[in-house]
Amino acid sequence: METNNRNIRNEIAEKLDDKVLRGALGRFAEAYPTARAKAYENVPDVDALREQVKNMKHNTVLNIEAVADQFEASVVKRGGKVFRAKNGDDLKQYLIDLCKARGVKRIVKSKSMATEEIHLNHSLEEAGLHVKETDLGEWILSLAGQRPSHMVMPAIHLNKEQIAEYFSKEMHRDIPTDIAYMVQAARQQLRQEFVLADMGISGANFGIAENGAIGLVTNEGNARLATTLPPIHVVIIGYEKLIPNIRDAAPILRTLPRNATGQLMTSYMTMVSGPTPYMVKEDGQWVEKEKELHVILFDNGRLNAAHDKKFQQIYQCVRCASCLNVCPIYTMVGGHVYGHIYAGGIGAILTAFLHTMEDFDKINELCIGCRKCVEICPGKIDIPGLIEELRSRNVDDKGLPLGAKLVFENVLSNRTVFHTLLRLAAIGQKPVKEGKFIRHLPLFLAGLAKDRSLPAVADTPLRDRIGKIKRTPAKPVKRVAFFAGCNIDFIFPEIGESAFKVLQDLNMDVVFPEGQNCCGKPVLGMGDRDTAKKIARKNIEVFEAANADVILSACPTCAETWHQTYVELFEDDPAWSQRAKAIGHKMREFTSFVAEQYAAQKRLTKTTGGTKVTYHDSCHMKRGLGIYEEPRQLLDSAKGYELVEMHNCDKCCGMAGAFGVKYTELSMPILKQKIEAIKASGAEVVAVGCPACLMQIQGGLDKQAPSIKIKHVAEILAEGLPDNK
Ligand code: SF4
Ligand code: SF4
Repeated sequence: METNNRNIRNEIAEKLDDKVLRGALGRFAEAYPTARAKAYENVPDVDALREQVKNMKHNTVLNIEAVADQFEASVVKRGGKVFRAKNGDDLKQYLIDLCKARGVKRIVKSKSMATEEIHLNHSLEEAGLHVKETDLGEWILSLAGQRPSHMVMPAIHLNKEQIAEYFSKEMHRDIPTDIAYMVQAARQQLRQEFVLADMGISGANFGIAENGAIGLVTNEGNARLATTLPPIHVVIIGYEKLIPNIRDAAPILRTLPRNATGQLMTSYMTMVSGPTPYMVKEDGQWVEKEKELHVILFDNGRLNAAHDKKFQQIYQCVRCASCLNVCPIYTMVGGHVYGHIYAGGIGAILTAFLHTMEDFDKINELCIGCRKCVEICPGKIDIPGLIEELRSRNVDDKGLPLGAKLVFENVLSNRTVFHTLLRLAAIGQKPVKEGKFIRHLPLFLAGLAKDRSLPAVADTPLRDRIGKIKRTPAKPVKRVAFFAGCNIDFIFPEIGESAFKVLQDLNMDVVFPEGQNCCGKPVLGMGDRDTAKKIARKNIEVFEAANADVILSACPTCAETWHQTYVELFEDDPAWSQRAKAIGHKMREFTSFVAEQYAAQKRLTKTTGGTKVTYHDSCHMKRGLGIYEEPRQLLDSAKGYELVEMHNCDKCCGMAGAFGVKYTELSMPILKQKIEAIKASGAEVVAVGCPACLMQIQGGLDKQAPSIKIKHVAEILAEGLPDNK
């Protein structure tokens, strides 16, 4: 697909309006987690199995050339031919030449994403060949003139009425919307194609180096027909599908169907090792002949990824598409907006390598970093981390857009200027401010505050309130340096005040190092590594000077940035890397730190009755830091509150930094789902551990369910302290 002239916003709007697509994806997304969980019930240690996939694939990519050589030698030994195609043109030429040489006129194809990647069908048809897709979903799409929208269920965006219409047109008769009837009609239509075909083209789920076999995992059996009936079988397999030994297929076969469709095993598992015999009638007699087997080992950017230390990870993908099934963005807009065959976050990364960085650039913002995909990916691929890395490389190559460059370099990296501007904003917002909210905005900004109120900048930031709340205990148990982050310092200073009170109640000496700035995550999210490094260095210096036992943040995104991102930023700079590690080691997230202290003081006793409170897990807290039990323990023990769970408590709220403002059209439906889940829980209060989630959910509640309040866990704990009663 030509992507340079795409208007991604229009495409998103079109998909958001597509009720069939939204309905199908919404229903599937709702049912999928339960189906997957059920399929894994008989696997004692799912994480160990995922680790096995990850390690096996990682070790393979480290030796990819040797594995490919062994695979080629094994295929040849068994009588097959191997062609290594550097790109799509090489591959197409080889196939067209082969068809000419063998007099091939008719081809049946079975599911192969690599061929979709290069629009092979189109090229073969232009060369005068009759090509038929035989996978049911792919066949439907060929009739509809559309591209797949999902890597496993390519026609998921269509309903049975639409499919019946395409079938009726193709078969020149009325096909009813009865699924069993439609499947039967498709079977009859396609069966002839298998019988008449001169060549069958298939993909492969894996290729085994030790014996040259390929494995195909399907539910329809058409791949088996395409690989066995025609006299020539061509396999098109990407380097990333190679595995060393037959036993390495086991973890793939155990995870792929479970993750893809919630099945223990697919209906068909076909292994092809070498040319198999086929039957042909000669002079009225059936005789056995040997087929021709050609294996095309396809590069098209894959070897570049294999040699890239960071992106080798994409070889850990088994193409189960489960990352799409749980992705808040994919499940709203489907696969077509990603521009090419590969959809979702992994699709965006593959697009950068298998197509172009310009294509990636168009879709790079369609990931909100929620890490839902990372949690279930069989290969444990850090999809959002790799997307962030691509964004940074893009900025390294092309620089930032001028506006962003000016703001990042002159404002965000200069604390004095940044904080002065925030103080000015607190004054400038007065005409639109109503209490703590901005509920209406004028002109083209109106959409930002339509279904969600925006928070106002606080009149007095946390840094100016410290004097009033600071106490210095005579014999403190610890010295804690509080890192506020922009949200707590300037938007929600009351969270910081509450955190101070809770920590001081624990007999800690809490200090607020004045020189602290933003953590740098927002600029890094835009790919600006240089500004992020400047900010990180300054923060590290300021907190080293604070000489604290613990650095504490009540924002999990900030905590994660200190823990992990600062260390990654300086991985090529030994001196700063050392300092980042040392300081990152001191950083603690508020709820987990306090829960630990409360447990030591036996203050985590469960209480019953009181105001119903439900807890929203922030993405960075739960999946970034692995913290989800501790805030619940604190809420369970908070006097006057009773914890109730909401549905999808760990689903993203749709904020995701600038995304929530830039892509309001995507952010608002995600927020709406969250508000609905909160209302359904019956809670009167929502507790959060993250100020960014608080900002988004508070805004949604103010417009959509104003009777429900939202509080940071620190505020709930502070309420119960003697000083606050
Ligand atoms: S990235 Fe992971 S979850 Fe997504 S398709 Fe690949 S293996 Fe499956
Ligand atoms: S991190 Fe979230 S938004 Fe990004 S690809 Fe994964 S599931 Fe989708």
